[in-house]
Amino acid sequence: MRDPLANRRLMHTLERPSQLFVRGQGSWLWDVEGRAYLDFSQGWAVNSLGHSPSVLVDALKHQAEYLIDPGPAFYNRCVLDLAARLCQATGSQQVHFLNSGAEANQAAIRLARKWGRLHRGGAWRIVTARRSDHEHLPTAFDAQVPPSPPMPVATGMDSVPYNDLEALRAAIGPETVAVMLEPVQGDAGVIPATLEYLQGAARACRERGVLFILDEMQTGIGRCGALLAEDLYGVRADILSLGKGLGGGVPLAALLARGNACCLEPGEQGGAHHGGNALMSAAGLAVLDTVLEPGFLDHVREVSEHLREGLARIARREGHGPLRGHGLLLGLPLIRLSAAAVVRTALEEGLLIDAPQAGCLRFTPALTISHGNIDEMLKRLARAFARCRRLAAEED
Ligand SMILES: *Cc1c(COP(=O)(O)O)cnc(C)c1O
Repeated sequence: MRDPLANRRLMHTLERPSQLFVRGQGSWLWDVEGRAYLDFSQGWAVNSLGHSPSVLVDALKHQAEYLIDPGPAFYNRCVLDLAARLCQATGSQQVHFLNSGAEANQAAIRLARKWGRLHRGGAWRIVTARRSDHEHLPTAFDAQVPPSPPMPVATGMDSVPYNDLEALRAAIGPETVAVMLEPVQGDAGVIPATLEYLQGAARACRERGVLFILDEMQTGIGRCGALLAEDLYGVRADILSLGKGLGGGVPLAALLARGNACCLEPGEQGGAHHGGNALMSAAGLAVLDTVLEPGFLDHVREVSEHLREGLARIARREGHGPLRGHGLLLGLPLIRLSAAAVVRTALEEGLLIDAPQAGCLRFTPALTISHGNIDEMLKRLARAFARCRRLAAEED
């Protein structure tokens, strides 16, 4: 940071390194000194097509010149097109657009509780898994809960251990309106649901007459090698939330509903500004059209294999692993080594990765990543591990 005072003006919400990034292209970022970094984090998986991809830049430029936003009280063409395309591609009947994942999950809970009033005698409790991204969400959103209709959200979340079907089944009671899960718990350290668990959870929901909600914020829009992770698992949610990769780097999230979960009336979600504005919707459309192009998801699956093999090789050599995740959402658990230390040495080697947990590295490169950039990343990662070893030796 050139001006040491400048960063004191930002509230200290996150520990950030001193690099100041000024340009991005695809899988590369450049700092103000002109140094290049290979980005395998992509803003925690938001830049699904990499930095400033031309399809996204062109769509934003074009739309910005026509119409940025007529306001939430009016239709705009982009949001109608995006809604139609997203519903068609995901087999959903309705969608609502928001600015962030947290808002979309909040909206998912509200929608489920509305359904509970109509179809399940006012049941309103949500069974979710411990360490999920949405677990603590309702408390964080207390301030935004509209006073009317009175649908409490601050309480009523029942957390159970992840990948434990018996615990999940046992937690579904008469007051339960829905089960809400991530197909892969990203922030908990890239922990994928087992096939048996996710399919069992979906079945339990059907049998007990409660809604099945999937939070696909991190797993959706091609990240796992399918448009949605639910395709990978062969399950179907009643309500599904999307965010991160959908906007390709701009704030855009979506709440999808199917069947009789499409039960919202005007005024029940509160009026979020910017959600589904023309500019953000143009971005979403550009991303979705790209991901749905023939061969795109084949590419994701193919480079995923290449990345997996390379990471597994390094993990074996360094005594870490086993690697976990799907597609281009991969986690590498470390044995007796701090993930934050590896993230730091990787940065010194010109590589951006992140550590969702103290003992786990996460890799979420652009879905357009090339074999060549994966090979370059593996070299930098190997050097980062070596640097960690040298630092540890110096400390002894
Ligand atoms: C990132 C994320 C969220 C929250 O999304 P924001 O856009 O940061 O509000 C919710 N759920 C999951 C699974 C996520 O990965």
